[in-house]
Formats: sequence, structure tokens, C-alpha cells
Amino acid sequence: MTAFWTEADFDDHELVQVVRDAKSGLTAIIALHSTHLGPGAGGTRFWHYADASDAMRDALRLSRGMSYKNAMAGLPMGGGKAVILANQDKAKTPEMLAAFADAVDALGGKYVTAEDVGISEADMAAVAERTQFVSGLPVEGDDSAGGDPGPFTALGIFLGIKAAVKHKLGKDSVEGVHVAIQGTGSVGGGVARLLAKDGAKLTLSDIHMDRAEALATEIGAETAAPDAIMSIACDVFSPNALGAVLDDEGIARLDCQIVAGGANNQLRRAEHGPMLAKRGILYAPDYVINAGGIISVTLEYLCRNDKAPCDINEVRKRIALIPGRLEQIWQESDSSGASPDQVADRMAQELIGR
Ligand code: NAD
Repeated sequence: MTAFWTEADFDDHELVQVVRDAKSGLTAIIALHSTHLGPGAGGTRFWHYADASDAMRDALRLSRGMSYKNAMAGLPMGGGKAVILANQDKAKTPEMLAAFADAVDALGGKYVTAEDVGISEADMAAVAERTQFVSGLPVEGDDSAGGDPGPFTALGIFLGIKAAVKHKLGKDSVEGVHVAIQGTGSVGGGVARLLAKDGAKLTLSDIHMDRAEALATEIGAETAAPDAIMSIACDVFSPNALGAVLDDEGIARLDCQIVAGGANNQLRRAEHGPMLAKRGILYAPDYVINAGGIISVTLEYLCRNDKAPCDINEVRKRIALIPGRLEQIWQESDSSGASPDQVADRMAQELIGR
């Protein structure tokens, strides 16, 4: 038996709990990386893993990622994540969700869950019937924190791209700046619309090309095939689909000056951050630029407990701090020679007392 806590991905997690409920068939992992700044917050993923150790690795990496993201977003939350191990047929029952909710509740608020891949709004509403430690629940009206995090994430990325364009290209506006966008879903589509309004030149791509084409027609953009978008000559490459696109091959293909987008875990391995820097490409660390959604969702949770203002202006105010945080990272990177991802990791570690 290999002890997972001896592996690098364990990274001194405060708590890792395996939840088994034979009656419902639930197997889940709840990982709490750090509660230094507040309760460990991060969504629940429902996924079929080929191997249980893949599930553990995913939980640990995602949970540490949430520690860093929440800390850099200035939120009073730590980092945590849960994964529910799905069967091959991905059957999900109310009994499983109930057993999972009871496990979250038993932690007494040390872990605050939310939606993630494979978990719907309805699933989370069911979990919330048995525990109060849930964020990202639907809200009424357009003027309060919470609801769909996509538009808030897109807003932060848009502001981050503008900051990168200023830092790297010395331009105060994105007018005429060419941005290649990979993935035109909730986040990528929102980023494209905001950039189009400001006169950026856009090339859009999606594995569902009909989606990219419809958006291109709406906002007046070009399209490129999914296998071509990373090699397009442009100013900014914005990954808003999958993680790990910045690997040896992906970085070699880039013909841009800036990488700034919302996808989680864009760097395949730690060495790919310095590799981008070596090529002279400015990188906006993913968990810093894509924090708009978590800011909104967390304020909605804190507001329910009277610990933060509920209104959307507070969300916007905090998202508006993202460009300044990125600029601080880039300046420190310029002066220290460490790559922006290394600088961001170090800042986040300091914030969580490590
Ligand atoms: P989404 O499902 O709405 O959109 C993703 C889009 O990417 C889809 O249109 C899909 O067809 C496309 N896609 C998938 N693989 C592709 C490929 N190889 N090439 C081109 N397009 C491809 O998801 P989303 O909510 O927009 O999230 C996008 C990314 O941002 C994810 O990595 C997600 O983890 C991350 N993220 C999202 C949020 C949020 O608030 N939604 C917050 C932080 C990070």
C-alpha cells in the first residue's frame, strides 16, 4: 500500500477524509488543504476515475488550487475540494447526495462546498437541504452576489487582459489588439463579448464550431479550427476551455505575446511557467485572473451568514482588484527573474502562512 500523504501532491493537507456509505453506494473524498484564512471552500466534482488514486490526486491538486485562488482573491476562505467517485455509468442517486451532504455537515463548517463538473444546480440545492455549508446557490434578481459565476469570471479575465496589454504592449486600450480565444462557452463567450465591445480583433474557436461561428457572427469576429487556434499569430492567446494546454508542444506552437484566460490549471507541469517566460510570453496566472466567479459565489455565501455585503457592486469592486494583483505579480517577476506563476505561488503560500 502506498501512503498518499507521502506524495508531493499531498502538500501538507490539513485533512483528507474518505467518505463511504455502503447503503447508497457513495464513495467520496473531501480534501482540506488549508483553513488558515477561513473555512476550506471549493466545489464538489462528480467524475468517473479509471483508478482511485487518480481521484485522490485530483482532489488534492484541486484543493490546493482553491487555497491559492481564494487567498489571492482576498477572500476570508481557505481551500478545499470534494470528489464523488462515480461508477462507469455515472449513476447519481438522491441517497448518495444525502450521504455526501451529511458528511459535509459533520465537518461543522470547516468545509464549504459548491457546484463543480458533474454536479448540477439541482444537486447542490438537494445538498443544501441537509447542510448550510453550501455556496453558489441560485439567487433572485440581478443585483445581488451569486448566481451563475461565468459572467463574473469573464469580467475578471477581460480586466486582466487589459492589464496584460498595458504591461506588455504599452497600450491603454484593447482596440485593434488581436485576441485568439480557445473555447466560447460561458467564460470564453463572455470574454469575447466584452473585448468586442472595446474594439479588439477576435479569432474564436471551439470544439463545437457551430458555437464559435454563431458568436463570431453576433460580434463580428473570425473563427479558426480547434487544432489551429494555438498557433495563430496574435497578441493574446486566451485559453477558456481545457486545462494543461500549456505543455511542451502547446508552448512551442504559440505565436503571441500574452497568455491570459480562464481555464483552470493551464500549465501542464511546473516547468511550463518558466518555459513561457523564456519565450518572452507574459503569463497571467490562471487562479488569479479567473477568480471573478469565486468572488461572487463566496460573497453570496458570506452574505447569507451576515458576514459580507450582498450587493453586486461589492462583487464588481473586488473583481476590479484583479488587474492590480496581476500587475504586482508581473512587476515582481520582472525584478526577480522568477516567472509569474512562481511569483503567484509564492505570494499565495505566504498568504496561507506556509
Ligand atoms: P463551458 O463548458 O461553458 O465552456 C467550455 C467551452 O470549451 C465549450 O464550449 C466547449 O465546447 C469548449 N471546448 C472544450 N474543449 C475544447 C477544445 N479542445 N478546444 C476548443 N474548445 C473546447 O465552461 P466554462 O464555464 O466557460 O469554463 C471554461 C474554463 O474556465 C474551464 O476550464 C473552467 O474550469 C474554467 N473556469 C470557469 C469558471 C466559471 O465561472 N464558469 C471559473 C473559473 C474557471
